[in-house]
Amino acid sequence: MEKIKLGKSGLVVTRPAFGALPIQRAPRDEAVKILHRALDAGINFFDTARFYTDSEKKLGTAFKGLRQNLILASKSFGPDRAGIEADLKVSLSELGTDYLDLYQFHNPATVPRPGDGTGRYELLAELKKKGVIRSIGLTNHSLALAGQAVESGLFDTLQFPFSLISTAEEQNLAEACRKADMGFIAMKGLSGGLIDDIPAAVAFMGRFDNVVPIWGVQSMDELDEFLELAQAPPAWDAGMAARARAAKEALGSQFCRGCGYCLPCPQNIDIPNLARMARLLRRSPWQGYTGKDWMDKMERGAGCINCGACSSRCPYKLDTPALIASNVDDYKQFMREMGVRLPF
Ligand code: SF4
Ligand code: SF4
Repeated sequence: MEKIKLGKSGLVVTRPAFGALPIQRAPRDEAVKILHRALDAGINFFDTARFYTDSEKKLGTAFKGLRQNLILASKSFGPDRAGIEADLKVSLSELGTDYLDLYQFHNPATVPRPGDGTGRYELLAELKKKGVIRSIGLTNHSLALAGQAVESGLFDTLQFPFSLISTAEEQNLAEACRKADMGFIAMKGLSGGLIDDIPAAVAFMGRFDNVVPIWGVQSMDELDEFLELAQAPPAWDAGMAARARAAKEALGSQFCRGCGYCLPCPQNIDIPNLARMARLLRRSPWQGYTGKDWMDKMERGAGCINCGACSSRCPYKLDTPALIASNVDDYKQFMREMGVRLPF
């Protein structure tokens, strides 16, 4: 499997790498099997976060005794020194390790800098000196903030949404990272599961030789598809470019990426799933969304009080309550057409 250096972090990681957000949704034993298979197939770089509920725990369980074979990255939303210290302590314990190869500021609202009054950057610099973390990264969804992070020279890596729907400016960010000797980690390579032409998505990544995609995997079938494509990477040619354009046009611009930054919702609405339910129903077996748990979730969605908390936190500035309302309506109509009785 191809390996590249992740900028000045010096970490030599595989392309593809493993994004461990979706394994939250896999049952524990299945998640462990998926992780073992990924490692056995040669993937060495696994990216998780304290925010991803039991993802770190699943990684720790799967890779007990195998730490030396792994490059592990995690991240913290901690707004200050104390918040990050608390997160890191839990992450190390869940992952069953005493160091992380990469530790990232998770989608901060401003670029953490020495002397900014939060103590965040100073803490990570101290931890790096002590060897508790081996490199410092930053993740973000804002192009402007990511650009500032690159210019600052303070970070070994940048993690940013990057896929065949990325704009020219977003693609330029990958080149800016190369020039700054920063590793570029591509998250949301399938845009939160909405791009279903996986060969086109992989071929797009192949155009950027300094970009490391962390494909979010939650099932063995998905993993197998990425592993097969890694063995015989599809070429980026005119046909593939046309497929990418078609995928982009099908999505439009007002769509939910499923990132979850709009949470929590005071009504306990599962926004990342509800705001894209119409697409989920049509890209995966719809019968999986007919159980009582999904009916309950959809009914809760119908109880949105329009408080606006979610849209104020959405990095894509989506009108989230409107998206939820239209997706709940679509769900009802879809299920009626399929002859499924709804309790609401
Ligand atoms: S607007 Fe609706 S979905 Fe958004 S946070 Fe408020 S209640 Fe939840
Ligand atoms: S509404 Fe926005 S913040 Fe919430 S999951 Fe979708 S894209 Fe992410």
